[in-house]
Amino acid sequence: MGNRIKLIIFAAATTIAVVSCQPSTGPVIEDKIPPGERNISINELAATLGMSISESNHTHVVLKNSANTVMIFTLNGGKLYVNTKPIGEVGPIERKAGQIYVSSSLISRIRSAMRAYAPLPTPVPSPSPRRLSGTVVIDPGHGGKDPGATSVLGYYEKDVNLAVALDVARLLDQRGLRVKMTRTDDYFVELEDRAAIANNLDADLFVSIHADSFPKSSRRGYTIYIAKSASFSSRKAANVIARSMSGTGLNSFGVQTANYHVLTATRGPAVLVELGYLSNRQEAAMLRSSSFQDRLAQAVADGICVYFD
Ligand SMILES: [Zn+2]
Repeated sequence: MGNRIKLIIFAAATTIAVVSCQPSTGPVIEDKIPPGERNISINELAATLGMSISESNHTHVVLKNSANTVMIFTLNGGKLYVNTKPIGEVGPIERKAGQIYVSSSLISRIRSAMRAYAPLPTPVPSPSPRRLSGTVVIDPGHGGKDPGATSVLGYYEKDVNLAVALDVARLLDQRGLRVKMTRTDDYFVELEDRAAIANNLDADLFVSIHADSFPKSSRRGYTIYIAKSASFSSRKAANVIARSMSGTGLNSFGVQTANYHVLTATRGPAVLVELGYLSNRQEAAMLRSSSFQDRLAQAVADGICVYFD
């Protein structure tokens, strides 16, 4: 959709009483934009909200302060998220001299959403949580010559899996768990060897981390898989991770069964987390964002900690 059409829709939406019976064609008249609204640069928006720009590229912009995260999608028909909650369309976007301009009306919408959607409390309650004990194997899916799925934005699944898995491992290590990763960089590891790492350590839990893909691009959300003949412990781990993941605001497909090789070849409890859909444009943009990767890692790690607690 071109900027012109978006402007017309925006004007129609914001002056609905005047134009609701009119076809949305014809020239865009400046004074249709309500008084007090103007285009402001993303820098100005961030400064007004007391936030700073933590990421900016051709698909999205992330603003942050210590308590809140705002994500603005600059794709056509882009959405606005505050602490992962979608709060509607971004509206018209203008690009001038390398700067992105949005409507000043976003300021009040973001402010009220920041109040309504304060950061989610993490499921780990106390300020100095109890040290946990146990051995967990974290398995970032794919790697090296095996890229996994390719996102609609062109990047590879293996890179998201690794970024989130490294973060999960760090968080678990902080809680006192003994953590082993099946890979810590971009190299290939056989499925057999991944399961063997868990079996040789007699791991208490094996968690494989992947991102999904589907021919229908509208499909979005996370899924936790266990093997068809999964043990009670695998099921328990899958349930607590699924519950913790619901705090990310993503759509949930819950716990499903599938005989993935890493799940059937691992002797101990094993789950496979599909973080979200790389075939969905907005989820692909979220999965690439490091602030959203942090949130996903926290959710997966929190679920694992509940399992060990
Ligand atoms: Zn995968």
